[in-house]
Amino acid sequence: MKQLKYYLLTLLCFLFTVSCHSSSPTPIKTLIITGQNNHNWQVSHIAIKQTLESSKIFDVDIAVSPAQGEDMNTFKIDFSPYQLVVVDYVGEDWPQDTRDGFLKYVKNGGGVVIYHAANNAFPDWKEYNEIIALGGWNDRNEKSGPWVYWKDGGLMKDDSAGIGGSHGKQHEYVLQSRNQQHPITMGLPTEWKHTIDELYDRMRGPGNIKDILYTATSTLDTNGSGREEPLIFTVAYGKGRIFHTMLGHTGESIENNPSMQCAGFQTLLLRGSEWAATGKVTQPVPDDFPTKTRTSYRKDYRE
Ligand code: ZN
Repeated sequence: MKQLKYYLLTLLCFLFTVSCHSSSPTPIKTLIITGQNNHNWQVSHIAIKQTLESSKIFDVDIAVSPAQGEDMNTFKIDFSPYQLVVVDYVGEDWPQDTRDGFLKYVKNGGGVVIYHAANNAFPDWKEYNEIIALGGWNDRNEKSGPWVYWKDGGLMKDDSAGIGGSHGKQHEYVLQSRNQQHPITMGLPTEWKHTIDELYDRMRGPGNIKDILYTATSTLDTNGSGREEPLIFTVAYGKGRIFHTMLGHTGESIENNPSMQCAGFQTLLLRGSEWAATGKVTQPVPDDFPTKTRTSYRKDYRE
């Protein structure tokens, strides 16, 4: 009898532990890499951290690189604790150890988010360009790979000579879904209106997009390309999952940061981040998600 009681007690403890774990899963260990950028990284990395942590499913650390001109050799990163790395960095080359560590992390199945101007970084790092699939600026041209844009119901690659990366004047624009079956987009409207932002065009690279999720029309009257540009997509690299969003130009402060305060941008960042880290999306579609005709701001980066 005594033994039976002991077993029952052990079973109860076990069930209690299991139920506690399933009701509050371990947060996704996330690292944002920042510290050099042609944008206001002091604002962007805080906005990303606040957005991710408001969901309670991410636990975010920050790696700040040395400033431009300082000794980059001190910028060492241990990627092993992380399930997700968000790249918010454009600047000097990382030291070899950090580059190797990043590639090993992705090849072994690590999740990555490429945020906005992170696709401007490292024009000469072949593997990084295979991780982002498309990049722009920093002397990119036809040698960087073809232009990739949406035409006649699919992505086409255009080897014509010319610049890599541009954008017209900032404006509100409609994102057009190209895949409603992906975990990231499932349940979201097929078209939604983004707050004022840059619309990247004429991006170039190896073009190894896995799943194109959203495009938008870059109109000539906004000084764009006149093409349907791929703006949000996934990439596969080794066993790693990459979520790439070109949206979210950084504002001047956390309070005045309209492109990143868009409920659509934040929802895609959250869903893309969870998918990159786990291959699944457990988050419901928020009530304030934009519609085709109505933008949606979140002043405080919370649903
Ligand atoms: Zn920008």
